Formats: sequence, C-alpha cells, structure tokens
Amino acid sequence: MAMTDLVMIKTAIEGLKLTSDAFRYLRKVSTESEVIDKINSAVKQVNDAQEAFFNIRETLFTLQEENHALKQSLADVEKWESMLAAYEVVVTEGEGLVFKSKESPLRYACPSCIQIKSIQFLQDKKSPDGSFVCDGCKNSYYINPKKTYRPLNPKTIF
Ligand SMILES: [Zn+2]
Repeated sequence: MAMTDLVMIKTAIEGLKLTSDAFRYLRKVSTESEVIDKINSAVKQVNDAQEAFFNIRETLFTLQEENHALKQSLADVEKWESMLAAYEVVVTEGEGLVFKSKESPLRYACPSCIQIKSIQFLQDKKSPDGSFVCDGCKNSYYINPKKTYRPLNPKTIF
C-alpha cells in the first residue's frame, strides 16, 4: 500500500513540474498582459499543488516510520509475552515466591528481574538454607527446604 502511494505522489509531483515548466515557457513567449496574468495565476496554483504534495509525501514518510516503530515495539511485547508464558508463579518448598518453568529442564526465574523484563535464572548455591541466587540482581530465594540437623544424642557419642 505505502509503495504505491509513494509512486503516485512521485508521479503527481513530476506531472506538476512539467506543467509548471510549460506555463513558464508560455509566460516567456506571451506578449499580452492579460494572458501573462492568467499564466501567473496558473503557475501559482501549480506551485501550491506541488507544495501540498511535498507535504503529503513528508507526512507519509513520518507515518511509515511511526508504523515501523510501532510494529517493532509490538513484536518486542509479543516476544516478551511468549517468553514469560513459559513460566508460572509458584511457592517453593522453601516457601520462596518465584517463577518456575512449565516445561523441563526445570528452572527458576527471579521475580525481581522479571519486573524489569529480564528473565534471570536462579542458581542453586547448595547451601543448607536451600537458597538459590539470581544471576542478575544477586538476590537470594528459598527454593529447597532447609536442611535440619538432628542434634547428636549424647548417649550415642560414647
Ligand atoms: Zn534477579
């Protein structure tokens, strides 16, 4: 659609240029002032029409650029939403509130980083408190249950 619009505008501008040139030639060769007045009036109208087409062409360019930018941001939003759709919010065994992948491999994602549209995986620190750390913001989340150590029975020590 946009390409044919541009071609039509270009054709119109070229046609008006030829018309303007023809009027200028007539003005040069005319001797009667009444005819010259009419030609001057016609030249002015052709110039106004050219100006209008230049403005239309500029507006069309601007609209095409805006259209391109909007399509790009829509594509970005759709890409983000499809990435986010692969996760769900869960409460973990360690009672952390995080995003978890719906499909394998099982992975957890940081809820803070998702707020800024970045999916960052949580890495298992293998610590006794069951926490994982975010690759991005370095926040910790309790994923696995805490390991509880049974106190040693003094009777079995000796
Ligand atoms: Zn994070």
